[in-house]
Amino acid sequence: MPQIIGEYVDRLCTVEMELNLKGRPRDKTRLLYDSARAKQKHPLTYLAAKRLTEAVGKDDSVIFLTGAGAPSFLPKGETDGPLGVASLARALKLGLGARPFVITEERCAGPARATCQATGLDISDGSGSSRAGRPARGTFKRKDHAAQRGCFLDFPQGPQGALERSIEILDQLSPKAVIAVEKTGPNDKGVFHTVRGLEVKSQTQAHAYHLIEQAARRGILTIGIADGGNELGCGLIKEDVKRILKWGRVCQCPCRGGVATRVAADVLVLAAISNWGAYGVAACLAFMLGNVDLVQDAPMERKMLKACVATGCFDGVYEAQVESVDATSMDVQASLVTMLRAIVENGLTRIK
Ligand SMILES: [Zn+2]
Repeated sequence: MPQIIGEYVDRLCTVEMELNLKGRPRDKTRLLYDSARAKQKHPLTYLAAKRLTEAVGKDDSVIFLTGAGAPSFLPKGETDGPLGVASLARALKLGLGARPFVITEERCAGPARATCQATGLDISDGSGSSRAGRPARGTFKRKDHAAQRGCFLDFPQGPQGALERSIEILDQLSPKAVIAVEKTGPNDKGVFHTVRGLEVKSQTQAHAYHLIEQAARRGILTIGIADGGNELGCGLIKEDVKRILKWGRVCQCPCRGGVATRVAADVLVLAAISNWGAYGVAACLAFMLGNVDLVQDAPMERKMLKACVATGCFDGVYEAQVESVDATSMDVQASLVTMLRAIVENGLTRIK
């Protein structure tokens, strides 16, 4: 039964909504999804939720990564990512008792924090030492309040110190999962790109992909939730991304290495919009744990998007501060969570 629910959820979260503004091929979502599905066999949202229920227990740390684009066109990040993180962090906290820790670029932390706050999650502040708008320092003693409930973690921008910081975080928190939602990953040459094949300067990015790679080496569950092929996790289907995307194999920047990221994850959830993939995982968790409220309802979804945009976040397709996600309106987001909740509720009713 969870697999059947996962099938419906996957279908809903992969409805193509692409405006084709960026020269992406039409039908891109289906092609990427089919590749990820063929590789992993089971419905993707189901698989991620199942692995999380197996790996994560009460008070276990779970690390979330998000952040896409560059300051020149997305000064405080984009609405795809923070809402997915907030939704899934909330589901893991309420459903499994996990402690969520969030990492994003410092310039994106304000909107990400506001979005988490809008869900009622108390992970917005750190250990008390942070100044406004700055992620808290992530060095904890066991009884620190922030460490008990989860919080935003400092992470450097650019390559310098990123590997060391990743190892330090894994040592301190011993997380049971690392989950990336719409987090740009490097290609084979270590260069970051937009899906349009343009270089995103290394110094503008939190090189948090080290957390995925180092977690994998320690046997910690890694999950990538993506919609474009250039985000963490898509390394699992790298050759197909190179084939499917216009700039997959050869990019427009001098590196010529293509936008496909090399960074794979244990589970890759491919969706039409990354947030939707995260919502889908939350929906499968809600079904498995018998609690529909693990998926935010429409009023909460609206509150999250309003909070995210009010604090400076942009729609990543419009590159403007409007209350939409990848050029789909707030009504669409609210409708999607309403439909996800209906799938979960109907499923739970049937098994009573
Ligand atoms: Zn390039």
